[in-house]
Amino acid sequence: MAAAEDKKMFLVIESGNVAQPFRWSAGTYGSKFLTEIRDNKKFWGIKCPKCGKVYVPIRSVCGPCYAEMTELVPVSDEGNLITFSVVSFGFVDPSTGKQKPVPYGYAVIKLDGADSYLIHYIDETDPEKLKAGMRVRAVFEEDGKRTGSMMDIKHFELI
Ligand SMILES: [Zn+2]
Repeated sequence: MAAAEDKKMFLVIESGNVAQPFRWSAGTYGSKFLTEIRDNKKFWGIKCPKCGKVYVPIRSVCGPCYAEMTELVPVSDEGNLITFSVVSFGFVDPSTGKQKPVPYGYAVIKLDGADSYLIHYIDETDPEKLKAGMRVRAVFEEDGKRTGSMMDIKHFELI
């Protein structure tokens, strides 16, 4: 009101809070992938009929072959650490809406039985203790708390 009384013009921009709830389908195979993690703590991949590559997470078409994939195959919840980063820069985690505590580990993982990579958190945050090729295992959210998202995997841990 002081601005109006002074006859000055001020532009005020507020970010505000707007709720925009929405839902989307993960698709036939994406739903299978997420449901198996939620209900059984199991990973599934999908195998290309042409080149034989197994993709995790599941996708419906092989990138190099353009072949439609329909054969689901079980893969392990253990694998190799391909590369990693220890992140010290905070951000608002879109899955929680809260600031992600730092530092946290981010890893590229190749599960046993898969030919593609999965990107997820790793609980080790000391870069001196992480090396490419180390064995890792998925740590799942507790029973009853899994919701059918990639965050049903809490993180990976070193074996
Ligand atoms: Zn292929």
